[in-house]
Amino acid sequence: MLNLANLAVDHGKLRALWDVSLTVRAGEKIGLLGANGAGKSTTLGAIMGLYPPQSGDIVFDGASIAARPPADNVARGIALVPEGRRLFAEMSVQENLEMGAYLRASRASLSQTLDYVFTLFPILREKARQNAGELSGGQQQMVAIGRALMSKPRLLLLDEPFLGVAPLVIYDVMDALRRVADTGVTILLVEQNIHRALDFVDRAYVIENGRSALDGTRESLLGDPEFGTKFLGLE
Ligand code: ATP
Repeated sequence: MLNLANLAVDHGKLRALWDVSLTVRAGEKIGLLGANGAGKSTTLGAIMGLYPPQSGDIVFDGASIAARPPADNVARGIALVPEGRRLFAEMSVQENLEMGAYLRASRASLSQTLDYVFTLFPILREKARQNAGELSGGQQQMVAIGRALMSKPRLLLLDEPFLGVAPLVIYDVMDALRRVADTGVTILLVEQNIHRALDFVDRAYVIENGRSALDGTRESLLGDPEFGTKFLGLE
């Protein structure tokens, strides 16, 4: 479904990605791991079309999407839940969710998709008219995930969705994401907590200083001494 080949991305004069390659098959849950500043968010942003690559390619459904604008990629079935949620604090929960359905195709089924999001996160139905800024961290994260789902994506990119979420609520969010994945949505998850990530995903890629370093299943990564010394010590 998605293939990154030798991707290089600059932020101004700074090279954030030097050589990132990964493959995601339809229906998989894939983790993207690495230290702070390794380039995980930049990788998700590049897939979304926020950062045009300097070299390398991004292929989605068999076609190159490198340097396509984000709206085109939303139309093709990609959605991003950004780091830090980026909600409109002064707008209601429902208005924030509706922002995710701005394309004509998703507007047609807006009330149905909204109902799906409310089924996934029942608390959001109760708080639909409240300003998003008044919600707890976990509830705001639910709104951010719900907003991404409103475009009915086939590939969901999640940038640290458990950050600032209370431990008990993390289970609710994770459970909802599992249910989303069970409907066939492919997931690419950036997560700092390695054990939490490996519990959730089928496989993971590790990025180190802007380069693909290691990849494998939970068992193969946890059994890899290089992974152990370099990454498990970080937590
Ligand atoms: P974190 O977990 O801290 O977000 P990360 O692995 O997601 O880390 P990135 O956010 O992709 O890493 O950052 C990679 C490098 O690019 C870092 O050196 C960072 O400072 C830089 N960087 C990221 N975004 C920008 C930006 N918009 N403008 C300039 N530099 C950036």
